[in-house]
Amino acid sequence: MRLSREDDDKLMVSESITNQKSLLLQYVKENNLRVYDIYIDDGYSGTNFDRPDFNRLLNDIELGKVNMVITKDMSRLGRDYIGTGNLIEKYFPEHNVRYIAVTDNIDTFLDNSNNDIAPFKAIMNDMYAKDISKKIKTSLKAKMKEGKWVGGRTPFGYVQDKDDKNHLVINEEQAIIVKRIFDMCLEGLSFFKIAKQLTNEGIKTPAQYYSFAWKSNYKLKYGQWHSKTIRDILTNRMYIGDMVQNKRSKVNYKIKKVIKNDVCDYIIVENTHEAIIDKDTFYEVQMRIPKNIGRCEKKENHLLDGLLYCGDCGHRISIQSRRKKDNRCYTICNYYRTYMKQRLCTTHSNNYDELEQVILSSLTNMCLSYINKDKIKNDVLNNLTDDHKFNHEKELEILTNDIKQINDNLDIIYIDKLNKKITEEQFERVKIKLERELNIKQKRYNESSNNINDNINEESKNKLIIEYINKFLSMKEPSRELIINLIDRIEIFEDKRVDIKVTFNIDARTNV
Ligand SMILES: [Zn+2]
Repeated sequence: MRLSREDDDKLMVSESITNQKSLLLQYVKENNLRVYDIYIDDGYSGTNFDRPDFNRLLNDIELGKVNMVITKDMSRLGRDYIGTGNLIEKYFPEHNVRYIAVTDNIDTFLDNSNNDIAPFKAIMNDMYAKDISKKIKTSLKAKMKEGKWVGGRTPFGYVQDKDDKNHLVINEEQAIIVKRIFDMCLEGLSFFKIAKQLTNEGIKTPAQYYSFAWKSNYKLKYGQWHSKTIRDILTNRMYIGDMVQNKRSKVNYKIKKVIKNDVCDYIIVENTHEAIIDKDTFYEVQMRIPKNIGRCEKKENHLLDGLLYCGDCGHRISIQSRRKKDNRCYTICNYYRTYMKQRLCTTHSNNYDELEQVILSSLTNMCLSYINKDKIKNDVLNNLTDDHKFNHEKELEILTNDIKQINDNLDIIYIDKLNKKITEEQFERVKIKLERELNIKQKRYNESSNNINDNINEESKNKLIIEYINKFLSMKEPSRELIINLIDRIEIFEDKRVDIKVTFNIDARTNV
């Protein structure tokens, strides 16, 4: 509300503050609006915008506290048409403020003709510009709806068709890079890693290509790929041949400020140009793209990461990142995640922290029972092994003697043959017999000595395992290294059954 001296002089009762107030409050009530504050400048001229409460209003708008301004009529806002026009056409829309002048029937929210004509009759040029802008906008949207490219930066991988400006064709050089990015994503590389690799290889970035294409004086010599660029490429439906436009719009024709449109405002027409990426690949990639947009959180190191397998399909089970709302993280079968639509497996979703606890306590039990069993076994074995060892050693000794004896005999018959004590025939017969015997003894000797070595290896391996187990049992928080030494793999089944395969010889099964 505003009341100036000029108004007062003319005794314009209708303009009194009380009058304005009751009219506005009536309007507010009728339209179910909520009042944030009432701003009154009593005794200030409308040609001057430097009014205390008016400034307070602007301040509140900028703080985002106010999204609607109502005056009795336009002149209450100001008498200066340029200043007022500025407010209504630039300032308010830029700050998402709806303006209503009750008796002038102006409402910037409703795009009615009154807004255009009534207050700005004098500013014909301005009007004309606005009208043209509107017409252009309408015709652009019509073109978009027909699936025609209406200009601007072509998506990376495409250029405008020389014969038809509204049609896009593939730029082979860039398309190869686009394909490579999709492949790298399927290989499991993160946006960051893809960007890093492309940068390292000196692959030109989209920005570099454009700086050369636009014939500007400013050419980018060095380019750096960013995670966001990779993400934008991987999520762009343009690459499967669909035209996606109207992503952004200008607030209005006077302001250069551009705002992002809601996804529901996008104008999408399918199959308008040649695809670079086939649909299967594209949708598979969409499934791999993490939902937390733009945030690169540090990956948590889980104790059991890499040891979890799907008991039903055999693929790995991964641990998803912690959810913000309850700080929980869940497991998921990779095969299920990749082929969700084809339903090749099921979720295998378990609260990871609970799963870890169950597995650790189960591992503890396994270790305890192994050690107990081992004690009994060792007590029995200790005697046995000594006997066993002794037998092996004794056997080796006997065999060594036997072999020596045979060799001696071989020498003797050879001398006998030379001295003609035995015939050639006799020599050959005895020689074959002795050689066969020698062969058998030699084989047995080798086997026996190997057995002794195996026993020694088995023993040291067992000692190491016992060492790991004791370490594990004494630790409150076991290290990942220790866990890997004790667990081969963990299989998780959809029915919550869990099989733990350990590196020591014991069978166990548990449930989540
Ligand atoms: Zn599975």
